[in-house]
Amino acid sequence: MFRCKNCKTVDRFELMFAPDYQGSKTFQMAYNKKGEIEITVDGYKFVPDLAFMNGFAVCKYCGSIYKWEYQ
Ligand SMILES: [Zn+2]
Repeated sequence: MFRCKNCKTVDRFELMFAPDYQGSKTFQMAYNKKGEIEITVDGYKFVPDLAFMNGFAVCKYCGSIYKWEYQ
């Protein structure tokens, strides 16, 4: 999954939103047929990748923003 470059915490996928994210922050998580995590945010469904993480996800452990890499 994804690892925070700052604190090295590996997060399975606990999405946190950037402080300036404007949506309603409703999201659901499910696995698709390929076993990938599929996220639905405000009605938009996608498989999260690094670009998404570094655009929107905040590390819940250390609070770093946009600091993800693949583990
Ligand atoms: Zn972190």
